Amino acid sequence: MQKGSKLSMKSITIFVMLDACRHDYISRRHTPFLHSLQSSSLSCPVKPTFGFEPDAAYLAGLYPDQADGGAQFWYNPKDSPFKLARFLPKWTNKLPKIPQKIIRKLLLKAVRLSNSAPNLSTAWLPFHLLNQFALPMMNGLDQPGFCPGHKSIFDLLREQNLPWLFHAGPDYRVTINAACKRAKVKLHPPLAFAFFHIGNLDGTGHAFGPHSDEIQTELSHVDHGLSKIYRLANKRFSNVNFVIMGDHGMIEVDHLLNVKEILSALPLSLEKDYMYILDSTMARFWFFSKQAKQLIGHAMKNLQGGHIITKDEKDTFHLNYPHNRFGDMIYLANPGYLIFPNHYQVHRPETGMHGYSSNAYGQQALLLINSERVKHQQLKTPVAMRRVFPSVCDLLDISVPVDCNLPSLLTDLP
Ligand SMILES: [Zn+2]
Repeated sequence: MQKGSKLSMKSITIFVMLDACRHDYISRRHTPFLHSLQSSSLSCPVKPTFGFEPDAAYLAGLYPDQADGGAQFWYNPKDSPFKLARFLPKWTNKLPKIPQKIIRKLLLKAVRLSNSAPNLSTAWLPFHLLNQFALPMMNGLDQPGFCPGHKSIFDLLREQNLPWLFHAGPDYRVTINAACKRAKVKLHPPLAFAFFHIGNLDGTGHAFGPHSDEIQTELSHVDHGLSKIYRLANKRFSNVNFVIMGDHGMIEVDHLLNVKEILSALPLSLEKDYMYILDSTMARFWFFSKQAKQLIGHAMKNLQGGHIITKDEKDTFHLNYPHNRFGDMIYLANPGYLIFPNHYQVHRPETGMHGYSSNAYGQQALLLINSERVKHQQLKTPVAMRRVFPSVCDLLDISVPVDCNLPSLLTDLP
């Protein structure tokens, strides 16, 4: 329900999801626009939720187990969209990179004939194992049912009949240039909300690391593009709330962990005794025999460079699902350690990675809220990413759903 008077259609809240923007990336030299915007904004480090899929946190204020997600893939053969993949012979996994990529593209095309979810992916999971996994977060961020049983910011906008502009994959390229072009054409009243996903910093951060010259160049490029969107919005709307949020940080990789090699040395059979997925910083396991639980548990416990998530951590990170699809056992790498090879990088390791504990300094992202309704404050204390949801609702003058008891950052600072 809308509070107070009807929103003026000349007022807009622009939300830039600046993928992998670390909280300490802002500098006068490389990001002059964001640096000067920060001097009239509320800004702070923001802690993403556990894992690789924090979208439900900032869009709906949810923990991973509340959103029944938090991972791109999880073990769920019944709901796997890749049932077709069982017809692919095992030798297809041994094909070189290019032919494999072609088969993966064709497979996705075939799956899309009966499944319209926009975020379908095979990553580099072996073809013969794909039918064991489902994608809990495969719906589009702005689609109804993005987090079943809960309302996202887009569900609330829909209820209020408030128009928005959505710029994210796979329909739009998630680059700053594509976002600027789209803004030039589409960012006009009457729009209450605009969402831009910008991925430049993620790609460059993975390829070159968060402290590289390349990331500085990319930051300058993105900063310039953001200044254009900001100026354009202020020309066309009488009131602009501008929110920039990184969905996670980026940490330099300096150690590799070969979990695959450890597993292959054990007297166990994949599929019969256990299943696993290696998501770069996490190794998640499902056990089908006591022996597998014992042997893998012992091997992973002794693997320096990470640890097995404890019961207390599951409570803290909110990983208490009513099922075991997320994993029976989760090994989390320490910041700077990368499990390689993994099911996302098989050919060469990345230089930068995220997906570590959100307590790690480099895993925390930037949050910047610029609005005439916030006073300038540069907080050092990180805030939970879930608090972005009620804050954006506040900027939009929309009440949060009754089951959300999170306070807005506009009125309640840590
Ligand atoms: Zn990434």
